[in-house]
Amino acid sequence: RDPLIEVDDLRTHFFSGAGTIRAVDGVSFSIPRGKTVCVVGESGSGKSITGRSILNQVPRGGRIVSGAIRYRPDPAAPSVDLAALDPRGRDMRAIRGAQIGLISQEPMAALSPVHTIGNQMVEVIRLHLKMGKKEAREHAIQTLALVGIPRPAERMESYAFQFSGGMRQRVCIALALACRPKLLIADEPTTALDVTTQANILDLLASLQAEFGLSVLFVTHDLGVVAEIADEVVVMYVGRVVEAGDVDTIFHAPAHPYTKALLQSVPRMHGQPSERLAIIDGMVPSRFNRPQGCSFHPRCKEARAGLCDQRDPQPVAIGDRHVASCLLYEGGR
Ligand code: SF4
Ligand code: MG
Repeated sequence: RDPLIEVDDLRTHFFSGAGTIRAVDGVSFSIPRGKTVCVVGESGSGKSITGRSILNQVPRGGRIVSGAIRYRPDPAAPSVDLAALDPRGRDMRAIRGAQIGLISQEPMAALSPVHTIGNQMVEVIRLHLKMGKKEAREHAIQTLALVGIPRPAERMESYAFQFSGGMRQRVCIALALACRPKLLIADEPTTALDVTTQANILDLLASLQAEFGLSVLFVTHDLGVVAEIADEVVVMYVGRVVEAGDVDTIFHAPAHPYTKALLQSVPRMHGQPSERLAIIDGMVPSRFNRPQGCSFHPRCKEARAGLCDQRDPQPVAIGDRHVASCLLYEGGR
């Protein structure tokens, strides 16, 4: 097994006068080549910050404090530790946007309001692919066609606001894929879209993945989306991975009480709105003060007094490539 990305004990913290937020606090998982890994969790789980950390683009106030993000684009060559690169340095900038693309929930934020779509695409392509103007333009048109933008040559002259929500997200995908990256990080890219448009975008991502052998890290709170697109699932809770495994295992034989609760919270009815937010009793703990013991113990139905409020669970191998951090599994199942 030879993953494209190996995240190893990653910690990304935020510092402010109010204290330290350990948004990502010892996270490990890997992204296989050509596969989709879904990172799932409630808001505040650290799933988005995990994605931003892989881009080495942590929002203001935060930074990667330790751990490694081993990136190996060429299986025959040694890996590069993205976490060790200067976020603003030349090496990281050559990788970000070219080899690792990002799409997010709000396409408007990713696109310039004052430049045409064509100019934005040509600029990115020329920067990274060292193409001449004419060649870059052709490549841009081809990429817009690839993501299903009708009349792509004409639409090169359009501005972001002239596209519908779904088409705008397609433009963002085109921009992210313009340099034919190895990895696409998708942070809730369909959450703001209606159900039909959401399904179309997921289909598009699946076909692009098949065509380019792209790896995808898909960040979402929506288990319906996970069921549809994931090969592997990483479940996060307050900055940690509580369970990881292949999609069938996570859905049919979940081990961690948090994963089980998440699955029970999914509405069974068909045709629900796309906002399938998990509703589990109790509050997510304060981001400044993690409870002593297992972070999930105040909400866990299986918690054992004197154990779960005392000891911090460590990841345990439950099966083949199936890991859970829960004291019930320590010392064997
Ligand atoms: Fe629940 Fe205890 Fe397992 Fe935490 S360690 S998930 S509280 S059973
Ligand atoms: Mg988020």
